[in-house]
Amino acid sequence: MATHTELLDRYAELVVKSGLNIRAGQQVLITAPLEAVDLVRRITFHAYKAGATLVTTLYSDEQTTLMRFEQGHGASFDAAPAWLFNGMAEAFKDGSTARLAIIGEDPALLANQNPDHVSRANRARSSAYKPVIEQITSFATNWCVISAATPAHAKNVFPNLAPEKALEALWAAIFKCTRADLPDPVGAWEAHTKALHARTAMLNAKRYAALKYKGPGTDLTIGLVDDHIWAGGASTARNGILCNPNIPSEEVFTMPHRERVEGTVRSTKPLSYQGSMIDGIRVRFEKGRIVEGTAEKGRDVFRKMIETDDGAARLGEVALVPHSSPISASGIVFNETLFDENAASHIAVGQAYGQNLTNSATLAPEQKLAAGMNTSIIHVDWMIGSAELDVDGVTRDGGSEPAHAQRRVG
Ligand code: ZN
Ligand code: ZN
Repeated sequence: MATHTELLDRYAELVVKSGLNIRAGQQVLITAPLEAVDLVRRITFHAYKAGATLVTTLYSDEQTTLMRFEQGHGASFDAAPAWLFNGMAEAFKDGSTARLAIIGEDPALLANQNPDHVSRANRARSSAYKPVIEQITSFATNWCVISAATPAHAKNVFPNLAPEKALEALWAAIFKCTRADLPDPVGAWEAHTKALHARTAMLNAKRYAALKYKGPGTDLTIGLVDDHIWAGGASTARNGILCNPNIPSEEVFTMPHRERVEGTVRSTKPLSYQGSMIDGIRVRFEKGRIVEGTAEKGRDVFRKMIETDDGAARLGEVALVPHSSPISASGIVFNETLFDENAASHIAVGQAYGQNLTNSATLAPEQKLAAGMNTSIIHVDWMIGSAELDVDGVTRDGGSEPAHAQRRVG
């Protein structure tokens, strides 16, 4: 059996080779929690080995984040480091710098802080971060989001285990769900991508007009944009580099029409949103917009989230995930979207991905809007899939057929 050190190294190599696919001569920008330093070091090693010219890491520290909310004064919560984010956007623009985000936050870090301060800080950050999100969602460069097990996150996921055991269990789950525990993770991801691409090809050939969802508390029709493209697995960035933007990733996803969503939907897993937990979401859509929205837990945070801007109450992504995905099979609720969104079919409010609309790079903003593409400073996924949920594809002639991702892909 491989040791933790060996698995960590295998994971790091997977991230560099399959996640980012770093080219010789590229720089790499990493953001990571302090507690992920061992993983960052292994990734940095493999990045230089692959020919990176410079690896720059920006660490974050949750204790200091908390200090801001405990000590900061009223006006301070609208501050954000726009200068830093503008610099990051500049680095990604020409595809010369690859982007790696390592996440591992305590999902409940800000649970006891003033929700108004939290939402203002989120809003200020999202709006300053917009130049980065634009470069990332339009795939200016190769990018990847991964997770590291941290003590706070491990405690949140496994509250009944001793701290050390919890951390071990979370790492084991991460290695398993990312296929890093296999002898040849890079090869496994190639095969996985092939399977996902076969599925997107099948869905793209169908040209569904809409998807219909029926299940407990859910009766929802999501119209798709006419020239939608299903995507999933590895994508080629505009700098020509094939990257896997999320590890793990089990979803295939496309673009809902911002004005063609009708009906009600209930969430099936909790959502961790910038330090707050939201659970039991119920929303009703009319002409694409959420006209009623509530949550059993974190209702105020949820409401403030969908009021961020006009696009925050409309859909930007719809994704199908087989109910038998390895993340779903693990039975673990990670309280982290990167993992949980791969356990169940989901929707996202906010910014849509340009790669889901034919020729979107050549369209002016008003043409994108007319095509049905949503824009927002946020993009937040939440889970609506379960074993009881049926998803049908509505064909262009009005017929319908099962579109559920029944089969395990890869
Ligand atoms: Zn998704
Ligand atoms: Zn998403």
